[in-house]
Amino acid sequence: MITQKVDEGLISKAKALVDGATNIVITAHVSPDGDAVGSTLAMCHYLKSLGKNATVVLPTAFPAFFKWLEGAREVIIFKDNRRAAVNAINQADLIIAQDYNELKRLGEDGMPKVVRETTCKKLMIDHHLNPEPFAEVTISYPLMSSACELLYRVLRTWNNGALLPKHIAECIFTGMMTDTGSFSYNSNDPDIYYIVAELIKSGIDKDQIHRNVFNNYTADRYRMMGYALTKMEIIPEYGTAIITMSRDELNRFNYRKGDTEGFVNMPLSIKGVVFSAFLKEEDNLIKISLRSQGEFPCNIVANENFNGGGHLNASGGEAHGEQLEAVAQRLRDVLPRYKDLFDKELAKITD
Ligand code: 5GP
Ligand code: MN
Repeated sequence: MITQKVDEGLISKAKALVDGATNIVITAHVSPDGDAVGSTLAMCHYLKSLGKNATVVLPTAFPAFFKWLEGAREVIIFKDNRRAAVNAINQADLIIAQDYNELKRLGEDGMPKVVRETTCKKLMIDHHLNPEPFAEVTISYPLMSSACELLYRVLRTWNNGALLPKHIAECIFTGMMTDTGSFSYNSNDPDIYYIVAELIKSGIDKDQIHRNVFNNYTADRYRMMGYALTKMEIIPEYGTAIITMSRDELNRFNYRKGDTEGFVNMPLSIKGVVFSAFLKEEDNLIKISLRSQGEFPCNIVANENFNGGGHLNASGGEAHGEQLEAVAQRLRDVLPRYKDLFDKELAKITD
């Protein structure tokens, strides 16, 4: 049995917003991951089944290994197709925000401003802490594994408890799988497996979905991974691993979007590593991805040092106007501040 964890009043209010709208735009965060792509497409398909004119608009492109999802090719990318994206947003009478908690997460190409300046109603369905209060209805559950898990609970209620169609179930499963590292973290709630059971009953091939997402990489990506692990720095005293990748290094391996996805998780498999940082040089900024084990709060590190945030075990942030190595040094320099938290986590490691 799936426990009723989402306030039914909120679910009804969200449905009333949908019922009152005709043109609906669904959005998610910049550099969309499986949860962002999966949850927006799932919502889009469901709304279309209700006869709505629904469109997914994402700030930037998503990795190619999500293209197999139904509807992925119809997604409008704001950065690449600004005119169509702005048109869709300006024609919307409802904008749904999924898998992000504040408008600035819509990237640096002007999408936050375009969405902020619309007068239409807004609905947020998200699992990040501290939602910005810009929506008429905010369904925020930071303890959920993924926006997809939360959305499943909402859609299931809208659907009177009936199973969802297979193409929607595939989108939902993709986000639940990717946001939990294939159910290896943030995934101790038994409900998750009841939900997965229902998704399988809807007809998904979960093993095939895993292959579509994780066994779909280029040789270049694997060579880059080998390189990244070779240059990985370990700081045993703080159970910390740091990997940096400059533009030049990425170019050497013909970097394409998504190629470094998951790199930040790998050092956590090393005994004695409880905190992992991956720093990547992007066009105008350094992107910082953080992961941690157990109770070490990597979102606090992101928030206090890199203008970011996220979840206890998966967070990120950005640094502007700083060189890659300077950001790495700043990270090394702040580690002592978290010594007690590191010691607590390191003490759990068994011989
Ligand atoms: P990733 O390392 O996969 O890019 O991000 C992991 C998680 O960290 C995301 O799901 C998101 O919750 C959070 N996150 C990543 N980058 C940022 C950022 O720049 N700002 C904030 N507030 N959260 C971020
Ligand atoms: Mn998510």
